[in-house]
Amino acid sequence: MPPRTLRPRPVRLGPLEMTGRARGHVVEVASLPRTFLQPAAAAALLRMRAAAARAGIDLMPCSSFRDFDTQVRIWNEKWTGRRTVLDRQSRPLDPARLAPARRVAAILVWSAPPGASRHHWGSDLDVYDRAALPPGAPLALVPEEYGPAGPFARLTAWLDEHLERFGFYRPYATDRGGVQPEPWHLSHVASAREASRRFRLTTLREAIASAPLEGRAALLEGLEGIYARYVRAVDPPPAARARRPTTSRRKSPGKKRLKRHSRA
Ligand SMILES: [Zn+2]
Repeated sequence: MPPRTLRPRPVRLGPLEMTGRARGHVVEVASLPRTFLQPAAAAALLRMRAAAARAGIDLMPCSSFRDFDTQVRIWNEKWTGRRTVLDRQSRPLDPARLAPARRVAAILVWSAPPGASRHHWGSDLDVYDRAALPPGAPLALVPEEYGPAGPFARLTAWLDEHLERFGFYRPYATDRGGVQPEPWHLSHVASAREASRRFRLTTLREAIASAPLEGRAALLEGLEGIYARYVRAVDPPPAARARRPTTSRRKSPGKKRLKRHSRA
């Protein structure tokens, strides 16, 4: 049973929460290292983790809620080359050799602009199988690790079969021309629904306009296209997935609710 403090409660997300500049919508998952999520997502994660453990998988989050300042730091480190920037084939490239607009595009392949990361919502997280990570090997978060020949092949197969049952799905399962497929990135459908509906280009523009961000002018210049391609172009959650967040509640989905849920 999840602790009392993790019991799902309704969460309101305003512009500050949706862009990671406030964190009133998340709670700390005390039993996991540095894990912050909306209460419903946290409870669902713990249920899924327990089920995975029974299959011999140590399902761990390596990233959950991330605040705006952290995303700014990641962005700035990639812009200046202090953090590795990978191309679409996961090969390192030198951002200093790229003109501003191309540098923005290169970073966006793997990183959301500050304010636009789904990790701000407290509904999304990255996971790996701690037990399958080779000793001493760092977690790289590249697709090969999660593919059929990678250490997390079994995790991938288990998630394929079970993640919907716990209310999760993969928003970056397929290449839609923006963010690369991220088999490690899961989203708790019910927790992401409100932000997904209410997030606007203006929400993002307002957050970025005053941020201490390298390449801000180039980012703002292309923001409309970036918003469409990197923020909106995600795989939609199938309506039915949001209907089964718990194991204890088993109602058949009413037509009205299904309709509402399909508009994510
Ligand atoms: Zn992620």
